[in-house]
Amino acid sequence: MTNSKYEISSWIPPEFYESPSGSTMRVGWAGATRCGFRCFYCCVDRDQMSTLRRDPGDSIRGWNILTNQFGSMLIDVSGMEPTTIPEEISSLTRMGHHLIISTNLSEPPETLFSYGIITDRLYIVASFHPTHWGYDPIPFLRRLEDYRRKGYHVCAVSIIGHPAFLPHIPLWRDDIASSGFDVIIHEFIGKYELGEYPASYTPSDMRIIYPSSDVKQDGRGLPEEDGDFGFCSAGYKYLWIHYGGEIWCCSHGIKINDDERIQNLFTLDGPIVLNDGPRPCEIMRICNCNPMMSYWVTTPNGNPQFQRYQSSPIRMN
Ligand code: SF4
Ligand code: SF4
Repeated sequence: MTNSKYEISSWIPPEFYESPSGSTMRVGWAGATRCGFRCFYCCVDRDQMSTLRRDPGDSIRGWNILTNQFGSMLIDVSGMEPTTIPEEISSLTRMGHHLIISTNLSEPPETLFSYGIITDRLYIVASFHPTHWGYDPIPFLRRLEDYRRKGYHVCAVSIIGHPAFLPHIPLWRDDIASSGFDVIIHEFIGKYELGEYPASYTPSDMRIIYPSSDVKQDGRGLPEEDGDFGFCSAGYKYLWIHYGGEIWCCSHGIKINDDERIQNLFTLDGPIVLNDGPRPCEIMRICNCNPMMSYWVTTPNGNPQFQRYQSSPIRMN
């Protein structure tokens, strides 16, 4: 497994790989447990989230320990709405990390500014929620322009491919793309009317979701050969930190080093022990690894399986 530039997906800030620290550690953090929107398709259990809230000082302490161990990292901050944890977001940029946040743009860019964020280290994927912004994306696009004007990198706009939205998506995609932003449609997972999604999508639905590709870009279905489980670098070059602070190899709850003791960001007291290299993964075939980490997935001979995403329209701008 090498880290040549050729392997870098277009999501990765180029300067991350040029950083003097040379760190290539990537972390996914479901750090936010609040959101001011109430989308009818939201799958998050708000009652459970409210029990997981922590003082920002707890996570900042944990991140300082991880920073001492790994140097500057690329951190994907997700969860509910990441701008509800501005103190942590700003601290992470000041520790030297690059962040990709998935935000619904409920907060204006000034909110993060007021916490001292280093703008140039923040990359934004903006999710368009018609239930809040209305079916015309113009107000949403105005807010997104505000972010761009203030110097934030905007990677893309994402929209949930909920069956109720499918008839509108081609128009939304055109409007958003004509403003200069790339658009990603995510498959909806859940029940709607008599359907169970994503299995219930018809071929014409799939053409709306993936108009320029005949390949699903969600990472499922690899590798193809029987008995070939493939190797994955999650737990070695990638970590996933859950809402409650538990640190896993990935969001599928795979333990690091098969260790019984799950370490927790909020109570870390020293460096963590990682896997010593890529490991076989028996559920790789059904794993819908986050595309942002898919370039870490390798075949048994060590070749990265990142070509699934080459047709992705995403670019950094
Ligand atoms: S913006 Fe996201 S987290 Fe918030 S309610 Fe909508 S789907 Fe849920
Ligand atoms: S292949 Fe998927 S499920 Fe398996 S360790 Fe990697 S990210 Fe986790």
